[in-house]
Amino acid sequence: MYKKYYIGEQEHNHNRGAAFDVPGGQGRRQPLPLQNEDMQHIEFLSYPQSEQQPDVLWGIRIDGTDLRVHVADATRELWRKERVARNPAEEERFLLLQHDGLLDWQIEDAGRHFLGTPIPAFAWSLPGSTAVLGCSCGEWGCWPLRTVITATPETVTWSSFRQPFRDEWGELPMGPYVFARPAYDAALAEPVRCAEDPLVLPGETAR
Ligand SMILES: [Zn+2]
Repeated sequence: MYKKYYIGEQEHNHNRGAAFDVPGGQGRRQPLPLQNEDMQHIEFLSYPQSEQQPDVLWGIRIDGTDLRVHVADATRELWRKERVARNPAEEERFLLLQHDGLLDWQIEDAGRHFLGTPIPAFAWSLPGSTAVLGCSCGEWGCWPLRTVITATPETVTWSSFRQPFRDEWGELPMGPYVFARPAYDAALAEPVRCAEDPLVLPGETAR
């Protein structure tokens, strides 16, 4: 049961349709343990940095949508205050390619990292927060996405997304996302392995 989520008043327009439908349509829903309408669904992915560079990056999908798409939506209006796009496709590429995944070898222990206890290098700049995406240039610290990860035995919550190089942006209009702990642990233990970066850019078809 995935919640439909909204960015401000605008319905998120990257939802992948069918995956969000409630099985059984309008009928009475069966109660599900540890998963309800107030929770989101997370997938962790792993993919090589490039054809030439086989180092593994960590990707993230929330409710079926790449986290970089959520960031694009959350930062579109903010970016429009400081840069003029040449055309809509260029703007979308810019927004989507702000970030790339973090390098597996750099975060050292993904199980600890994504439960909010990163190694000291990744706790830099905003105490209590964790970088969950890095920069698309390959140097994660040049444009990271930070969030506060709070883990309990029942849930893992990602809240207060921030851009450390844009204090003036404040908290980004995305999340908080609440995940059921058992599903989160399972997703983290068995990331979906992709042959290449699964992000689909404007003008490209799904890989
Ligand atoms: Zn960079």
